[in-house]
Amino acid sequence: MIKKIVLQKGKEKSLQRFHPWVFSGAIAKQDHSIYDGDVVEVYDFANQYLATGHYHNSSTCVKIFSFDKIVPDDAFWKMKVANAIDYRHTIGLIDHPKTNIFRLINGEGDGLPGLIVDWFDGNVVIQFHSYGMYLLKETFVQILTDLFQNKIKSIYNKSVATLPEIKSFEPVDELLYGSFDEVLVNENGIPFYIDIVKGQKTGFFIDQRDNRKMVGEYAKGKDVLNLFSYTGGFSGYALAGGANRVHSVDISKKAIDFAEKNIAVLGKKYLEKHESFTENVFDFLENADDKRYDVIVLDPPAFAKHHKVKDQGIKGYRNLNRKAMQKVKDGGLLFTFSCSQAISKEDFQTIVFSAAAMENKRVRVVKHLEAAPDHPVDIFHPEGSYLKGLLLYIEN
Ligand code: SAH
Repeated sequence: MIKKIVLQKGKEKSLQRFHPWVFSGAIAKQDHSIYDGDVVEVYDFANQYLATGHYHNSSTCVKIFSFDKIVPDDAFWKMKVANAIDYRHTIGLIDHPKTNIFRLINGEGDGLPGLIVDWFDGNVVIQFHSYGMYLLKETFVQILTDLFQNKIKSIYNKSVATLPEIKSFEPVDELLYGSFDEVLVNENGIPFYIDIVKGQKTGFFIDQRDNRKMVGEYAKGKDVLNLFSYTGGFSGYALAGGANRVHSVDISKKAIDFAEKNIAVLGKKYLEKHESFTENVFDFLENADDKRYDVIVLDPPAFAKHHKVKDQGIKGYRNLNRKAMQKVKDGGLLFTFSCSQAISKEDFQTIVFSAAAMENKRVRVVKHLEAAPDHPVDIFHPEGSYLKGLLLYIEN
């Protein structure tokens, strides 16, 4: 029997609008002995079925994976994963001639809250964000190897940093299938080494693919500064796009070493056009000349992961954008991003506009930027669009 949770009167509305989360404050009563990771059915106060999801004793206590009364057996999960694959077929990412990395499953955006799956040329990295999904890890290995036949080289579970804390459970990162050595992939024909085990997140920030491509398109003959460069994603595109000079800045030595390796595999001729700095971006900007660069990319880590630290995050972004704007030549471009869930698109726009006002800069919005299409957002879960950016023309 699937355990049952009943909501307070009036708290059913968000589920009726297919929002995939139940907050603990909405619950009127629940069956005894519901444990973290359990599948639960959610009912309204009048005992009408609403949805089925994974339970976790926390503020977002049920993450919904079905609004139909189903039994989540292997066939159900397989159908969900097959849907996610169909979507990637539709947007042209399966067997793409120039790109062999993409996000295969994007949590809520694919109706699978708690589950992230990235594809690196047949090397699959699974990141569980909920214990309920984690308990299904063997099921997902089976499903992925079934659906992709012999295309899968390895499956690695990398969830220590993302699983919620659970008593008497110590998650480990582990190889679940096959094996991998050095992983070298292509994104729009640009090669990148991926450090699955020690790299950040699943190894690469796949969400920036289309924005990286745009940087490449605007880079010809330009001096480009890539701030928070990680393994040199934007730098590789800028160089391949014909940049005159590219500077990559990241605080992590490991990331910078990888960036250099990535520029070398792109082509030895690019090494002399590229310089990397293992440095705090704030210090780097303090010492850089004003109006030095034609194009600057500003892609910091999330400054406001939670609403509690939103104000602090706003100040951080504003300060950083002010500093970056100072370093752009008149008539140059600034690609500026925020990946903080707590900062909305509108918030970010306000932050950037006030930074421009404070710096007395004449700025035009060239384009609004977001994550690539393999990071779909469930229309009923707008919180899923965490990455927002602006391409700005800095007139003077
Ligand atoms: N733009 C990258 C992703 C950036 S992730 C891409 O396209 O792949 C954020 C990066 O910021 C990480 O590599 C992290 O090491 C770096 N970082 C965090 N704080 C920093 C700081 N104060 N100064 C420099 N780099 C920092």
